[in-house]
Amino acid sequence: MTLVEAGDALGGRLRLAATAPTRGEWARLIAHKAAMLAEAGVAVQLGRVADAALLALLAPDDVVLATGAAAGRGDIAGADQPWVFTPDQVMRGEGPRGGRAALIDLEDRMTAAATALALQEAGCAVTIVTRSPLVGQRLEIQNFIFMMREFFRRGIEQLPHHACIALEARGASALEAPGTLVLRNAYTGAVRREAGFDAAVIAAPGVARPAPAGIVPTHVVGDAFTPHDVEAAILEGHRVGLLI
Ligand SMILES: Cc1cc2nc3c(=O)[nH]c(=O)nc-3n(C[C@H](O)[C@H](O)[C@H](O)COP(=O)(O)OP(=O)(O)OC[C@H]3O[C@@H](n4cnc5c(N)ncnc54)[C@H](O)[C@@H]3O)c2cc1C
Repeated sequence: MTLVEAGDALGGRLRLAATAPTRGEWARLIAHKAAMLAEAGVAVQLGRVADAALLALLAPDDVVLATGAAAGRGDIAGADQPWVFTPDQVMRGEGPRGGRAALIDLEDRMTAAATALALQEAGCAVTIVTRSPLVGQRLEIQNFIFMMREFFRRGIEQLPHHACIALEARGASALEAPGTLVLRNAYTGAVRREAGFDAAVIAAPGVARPAPAGIVPTHVVGDAFTPHDVEAAILEGHRVGLLI
């Protein structure tokens, strides 16, 4: 068994998750899985992009694709402007530092919650926007309670019941903060504008990465199959391991 990883360490996107405030426990999971790989005698090749040439060299009987997903930005007009970021960018330290930040959550799960804490610790005044009735409503109950306590303690504001349909850039005055959110009420459809944001971060489902050219996987697991979460990725990997 050979594991090929393009990055310089194991863990994938979970390494970013582990850098968020209060989420360091993910680093323990990565360390545990890495130790299990060593114990099982899996050959780990880091800093190596899997491509057709490498697969021809390895000539495996099975190919499990676990290449993850690229960050998505949802279907929001203006999402590609320079003041709009992804959670991954925030975690890599490429996000806003200070000012007013809107976190537009299209998932209601941990990625946005963890990113909100990271933004707050980077000095931002954070507002989480979701069209759902509850911010973080798809979190497990213990995580929901934990995060609510963090949000209230840290002064992170919550704006539920509103879908962000567009992000508009600066108005006439250069003194204004650049961003305006165009919000649609989830029940009435009424549209209103919320101005004065220096940055917006969109937490959206990712876009599954296709297999590299010339590689035909026998199995696809994790976010490469359908972008969801790490628990599902581990379970799918486990099932495929038993199958093989
Ligand atoms: C801030 C943040 C917080 C999160 N919090 C949680 C949480 O609390 N709970 C949860 O369940 N999920 C969380 N997630 C989501 C979670 O990280 C992902 O769902 C999970 O990492 C998906 O695992 P994966 O192995 O399928 O893909 P990934 O973690 O994306 O790993 C894919 C790997 O494939 C490698 N790769 C890609 N192409 C190639 C190639 N051609 N050759 C070799 N290697 C390649 C990449 O380098 C990468 O290491 C969070 C995400 C973020 C950003």
